[in-house]
Amino acid sequence: MSFALAVAVSILATLPLGAKPRVRIVATGGTIAGVSASSSSSAYTAGQVTIQTLIDAVPQILDLADVSGEQLVNIGSQDMNDEVWLALSKRVNALLGKEGYDAVVITHGTDTMEETAYFLNLTVHSDKPVILVGSMRPSTAISADGPANLYNAVAAAVSPSTRGKGVLCCMNNQLLDAKSVIKAHTIDCDTFEGGPAGYIGYVYNGEAHVLQSVNSRHTVNSEFDVENLTSLPKVGIVYGYANCSPIPMQAFVDAKFDGIVLAGVGDGNFYKDVFEVAQRAQADGIQIVRSSRCPTGPTCLNSEVDDAKYHFVASLDLNPQKARILLMLALTKTRDWQQIQRFFMEY
Ligand code: GLU
Repeated sequence: MSFALAVAVSILATLPLGAKPRVRIVATGGTIAGVSASSSSSAYTAGQVTIQTLIDAVPQILDLADVSGEQLVNIGSQDMNDEVWLALSKRVNALLGKEGYDAVVITHGTDTMEETAYFLNLTVHSDKPVILVGSMRPSTAISADGPANLYNAVAAAVSPSTRGKGVLCCMNNQLLDAKSVIKAHTIDCDTFEGGPAGYIGYVYNGEAHVLQSVNSRHTVNSEFDVENLTSLPKVGIVYGYANCSPIPMQAFVDAKFDGIVLAGVGDGNFYKDVFEVAQRAQADGIQIVRSSRCPTGPTCLNSEVDDAKYHFVASLDLNPQKARILLMLALTKTRDWQQIQRFFMEY
């Protein structure tokens, strides 16, 4: 028996005969819940319609699952913050744990969907499917993409193929894993990309197909736990460019941030004035992670910058915004730069 078939059999074995899987939709807002004054206008406000309106707009999802929903917040995802992440992570853990749901779908704006996906990937401790979904066009637009995306997300949530893959994003018929997914286009429906190996699967005719495995540690294999946390360490991002000012990094130091991520040029390189601030900051106990403003490629350890000498951490495959999340979670456990580098190698 194949692994996928074995998992399918084990899921079905836990459901009463004829019962559909119980899927909970947790709504957070975004364009999928957005409304515009006219169906042809690009001006709209994210986070306007409620979860019940979204479910009612796609009654076909009730053929796939026993679907119910709840509204956590209703915001544009540019306003996502640590408080909502902590509440969302705890809620998803409860839904998949003691409340016994089979899967969770989260509706979310696309701007920071990759960050929320990665945060949940490290803090939800279940191998049940968790699928984030959004849209690029508001619910009132001509050819709104939200209804099809929501249908696909529920199809992915009930598929045995998505179990154990960590948190996934479902957009534009594709499934993308939380570690590699990035928003790559400001306005296209085909905005999400999935790193060098691309998307890991697709949804077609109400069926999800996962083509690739996910190798980094996540969910049930993650050592990060936010259950008893009410806040997260403070980590900021500094953007690199020619003739870069050291003022933003110095401002984070002065504001007593716990860590700073460099969105450096090339392979995570600093402008010389910024490098000096970073060296002093690390010596004062502020953790420095080097990442890159380049959209593709790793930030390598001990290459152009001698990380071992300066006790910097290289973000490897994480972009600055995901490096920030891992550094925040790392700092809940340690301030040791070598231990933090180990996290970046494994997660
Ligand atoms: N800024 C909005 C958000 O992230 C719109 C982007 C979207 O949802 O597509 O919620």
